[in-house]
Amino acid sequence: MELFDLHGKVAIVTGGNGGIGLGIARGLAQAGADIVVASRNAEKTRAAVEQLSGLGVRAVGLQADVTEGPQIQKMVSDSVDALGGVDILVANAGMSIRKRPETYSIDEWSTVITTNLTGVFACCHAVYPQFKTRGGGKILTIGSMSSIFGMEMAAPYSATKGAVVQLTRSLASAWARDNIQVNCILPGWIDTDLTQGARRAMPRLDESVVDRTPQKRWGRPEDLAGAALFYCSAASDFITGTALPVDGGFSSSMF
Ligand code: NDP
Repeated sequence: MELFDLHGKVAIVTGGNGGIGLGIARGLAQAGADIVVASRNAEKTRAAVEQLSGLGVRAVGLQADVTEGPQIQKMVSDSVDALGGVDILVANAGMSIRKRPETYSIDEWSTVITTNLTGVFACCHAVYPQFKTRGGGKILTIGSMSSIFGMEMAAPYSATKGAVVQLTRSLASAWARDNIQVNCILPGWIDTDLTQGARRAMPRLDESVVDRTPQKRWGRPEDLAGAALFYCSAASDFITGTALPVDGGFSSSMF
């Protein structure tokens, strides 16, 4: 058995049309996986699919909003129809609304929770029957440094990212007997559209991240590919319920 080979496997990557999701999708495709990119923005999805097809795998773009139950069900059934089944779910789609906690409306709070937490659960829940049918599967969730640390400008986001780690452990415990491994990556500060927004909202963020990160740089989406491949391949077959920082040392260092 080739530990890191994904030929013959199909991976759904939610939010796979940019940023960390696309970085992970590229890593899985380089290992041979066929990829379903599931996101809302059709134009970005088309461009991502073109990029992934260039790596010599089958790539399909689906329009899916992870806050909409029926769209998630359709994402799974369309993936099965297009590529013959699903073996891997990367539940990556996420967003934030940045402001001080006392200024959130309850609707804003709910938007973040529904996307980052309920959306992750709903995608895992929707692929489970497919994984059962195929005798197993891999789920990768995406936490954050805010799974560990608080963030004054991102209370609901931090709440979801802490919860995603506990959800990961619970699903891992429940589905271990089904040969489904569920693990989480905790990215440090990665340069994507999401953090470009954060940089605009927090003028000193750019330098503080470099200063605070022991490796003295921002992460890049491709920095997540190695850990993702590990968790989505046979290399991690006896590993479940874990949360791995991919953060240039951020979470291990006081300063
Ligand atoms: P981006 O904003 O670059 O990407 C977010 C992706 O999620 C996009 O592809 C977007 O596509 C998709 N998305 C957002 N909302 C929805 C939705 N409702 N339904 C379906 N897709 C959706 O951000 P990142 O790449 O930075 O973030 C990816 C993940 O990594 C998130 O979970 C984020 O919290 C996490 N993360 C990021 C860190 C960073 O430093 N960048 C650090 C720690 C964690 P579309 O708009 O087309 O739907």
